[in-house]
Amino acid sequence: MEYSLDVAGLEIQVIQKAMKTVRFTVYPPDGRIRVAAPIHLKRSQVLQFIQQRIPWMKKQKLRVASLKLAPAPEYIEGETHLYLGQSRKLVFGDVAQAGVRGKQLVLPAKYKGNASRLEKTLESLYRKAMKEFMERRIPFWEKEMSVRVKAHGVRKMKTLWGSCNVRTHRIWLNLELARMSEKCIEAILVHEMVHLKERLHNHRFYGFMNTYLPDWMEREKELKEIGVRYY
Ligand SMILES: [Zn+2]
Repeated sequence: MEYSLDVAGLEIQVIQKAMKTVRFTVYPPDGRIRVAAPIHLKRSQVLQFIQQRIPWMKKQKLRVASLKLAPAPEYIEGETHLYLGQSRKLVFGDVAQAGVRGKQLVLPAKYKGNASRLEKTLESLYRKAMKEFMERRIPFWEKEMSVRVKAHGVRKMKTLWGSCNVRTHRIWLNLELARMSEKCIEAILVHEMVHLKERLHNHRFYGFMNTYLPDWMEREKELKEIGVRYY
């Protein structure tokens, strides 16, 4: 069931479906608000949930509106792209897929001019970098924190840098993180892994963060400075 509501000057898109909790999402770039709620709730109950979250939604809307949106890349020779926190120039070469050569990102010459094909091959390079990072660092943090990650993966996410399913012990990281430095990626990884010890963002959670990664806040600054291009 889908409908829209006008609450306190905010246009809110509501979807009611089989789910257990009410979920609020504010989407970039324009701050569109979507509320997903369990199917069994009455419309008046959904409205009550929404009213409680109005200050939060207004704050999120402002935050989303202030995000710097990088222009869409053209994938042309000499264009710079971030890779693991470093700015690298695109060059074309006789390669089968995107790769790193010194400070350059080498793209297959055969795809020259085909932006969507070039975007895909660059994405697979980013995916590889993220996978390699997770495979290298998860075992370290598992030992450090005495937790177990049962599955992990990389995917494009619109509103999150990472997510953790505490029931299945599965961790996802946003593909876009491959543009950030390893220090920054690590802060997100540790954040998600700490959720295996504490589900909520409470005092206990931040206590763990401060213990395992005392400079986590500094590391996460990069996310705000660099800005993201959302899909
Ligand atoms: Zn969290």
